[in-house]
Amino acid sequence: KQSSISNNGNKIMVFLRLRPMVRREKDAGGRCCVRIVNRRDVYLTDFALEHDYLRLKRLHDRHFTFDASFSESASQQDVYSTTTAELVEAVLEGRNGSVFCYGATGAGKTYTMLGTLENPGVMVLAIKDLFTKIRQRSFDGNHVVQLSYLEVYNETVRDLLSPGRPLVLREDKQGIVAAGLTQYRAYSTDEVMALLIQGNKNRTTEPTRVNETSSRSHAILQVVVEYRMRDAASMSVVSRVGKLSLIDLAGSERALATDQRSVRSIEGANINRSLLALSSCINALVEGKKHIPYRNSKLTQLLKDSLGGACNTVMIANISPCNLFFGETQNTLHWANRAKEI
Ligand code: ADP
Ligand code: MG
Repeated sequence: KQSSISNNGNKIMVFLRLRPMVRREKDAGGRCCVRIVNRRDVYLTDFALEHDYLRLKRLHDRHFTFDASFSESASQQDVYSTTTAELVEAVLEGRNGSVFCYGATGAGKTYTMLGTLENPGVMVLAIKDLFTKIRQRSFDGNHVVQLSYLEVYNETVRDLLSPGRPLVLREDKQGIVAAGLTQYRAYSTDEVMALLIQGNKNRTTEPTRVNETSSRSHAILQVVVEYRMRDAASMSVVSRVGKLSLIDLAGSERALATDQRSVRSIEGANINRSLLALSSCINALVEGKKHIPYRNSKLTQLLKDSLGGACNTVMIANISPCNLFFGETQNTLHWANRAKEI
């Protein structure tokens, strides 16, 4: 079976990342229920069936396969190179792309996207790679790199680089923009990590759990690269603009439904509207539908020019290896599998 799909120029690549078991899980008596083989195949064991040998044998271990699957020992660099490096290349050529981390709270999305000072994640490695590639391009023109980092929380948009009042979305010539959003002109990688870590601290925290980033907040880093050069022969200015969007999505544990009918029925229940709308848009895109329901949420409005068209889309599904989260892991695997197969 084809593992990545291409439809109307849309390409969605789906990856899986398994994180290591954490102390808390071991202490709680958790066991590892996920196995990755050959960097592709994922086997999920349901220990609840352990003593029901025949049923277990029939179901066997549930098996999934993705464009690549990263085991707990995969490095940040490995994840970056395999999933995102190609998109950075495309952005320099003036194309748009987006990378999403999807999964339950605690599954490793923020680690994958932002990472730590010692082990920076996809956001930082992408910017580092971008600057390296820009330096290698010895054209007469010049590149301008601008960053913005924002949050969508309860359908409210906030600037993570300059926290304050909610931002209003406006439609202008360039598409949908958050009015007043900070555009940070970046010159090197070093300054960016600190900026992003600070930005991440500005994400909304759950009122009941101070210091803990809300599981309902989506963080979007957009990196816009503009290239301009004067063409000596024609005396004209050549310019191109590419945009890379890197998104640390809200926890998926409360948004299990992905088809239109169930979306509508649970919308009132304060389920994450943006996450559901994203699922609907991706479904519509890969099915080749003419109408893509971008307008249904803030997240999808903001990503309108980075999803669909000739954009590249990458999904990284994050899971815990621990059987205590079996249900969430299974849901994430099913969702990712559907994103891949439709
Ligand atoms: P999420 O953003 O999905 O809620 P986090 O990224 O915060 O989850 O990860 C939960 C915990 O697991 C954090 O303490 C994080 O440092 C750790 N973690 C996640 N992925 C990895 C990994 N690949 N290697 C080591 N630790 C990880
Ligand atoms: Mg997180």
